[in-house]
Amino acid sequence: MSGTLFISDLHLASERPQIHERFFDFLRTHAARASSVYILGDLFEIWLGDDALEDAADPLACAVAQALGTLGRSGVGVRILRGNRDFLLGARFCERACAELLEDPTVIEVQGQPVLISHGDSLCTEDLDYQAWRCTARSPAWQRDFLARPLAERRALALGLREKSREVTRAKAAQIMDVSEEAVRAAFRAHRVGCMIHGHTHRPARHEHEVDGRRCERWVLPDWYECGGYLAWDAAGPRLVSL
Ligand code: MN
Repeated sequence: MSGTLFISDLHLASERPQIHERFFDFLRTHAARASSVYILGDLFEIWLGDDALEDAADPLACAVAQALGTLGRSGVGVRILRGNRDFLLGARFCERACAELLEDPTVIEVQGQPVLISHGDSLCTEDLDYQAWRCTARSPAWQRDFLARPLAERRALALGLREKSREVTRAKAAQIMDVSEEAVRAAFRAHRVGCMIHGHTHRPARHEHEVDGRRCERWVLPDWYECGGYLAWDAAGPRLVSL
């Protein structure tokens, strides 16, 4: 086994079963040959709380945890960051998935190099509405209140929020929804790394940034709406792979 794989923004949802199959196939093939797999947020389109694992009406959560668990028990290290869609993903899911839940952002070591990993939404600092909502939704009080509601009520609330966010998003300039150059520089400085990997913007690419005279590299992961893909990093270095 060799190499580290990074994926994000699968947005798994019961309405899109073709993506589940692609993901399960990815876990059985590419991921099974890796030494570790990092999921950098938005594994799920919506996460209503870890009790979704017991939701008989929607077996997706359970099936995903089981597939990840199989991979984890085979010896591949599975690590998960929460995204803006599945920010309520918790310890119970990760235990079932045999995965380690990491804080966003986290500095890890890949092939001897420190690398900052993040979902990426916290870098979109020009999107002020979104940052305000992020602040609310990450507060313990809001989460306690939300999780105390029945699953059906949480689902209705989440679907309403998603619809609202779609309307707002349509009206926003594309640039506002991308990461801000300033926030990227600040992250490189604060964590003293030369490399960063994130998802969220669905704009897969490799970017170079000059930060205080240092050349830094930023990799953006693809989403899985159409075909999906991942970043692979082994002795030969990092590269984006399309499925
Ligand atoms: Mn996202």
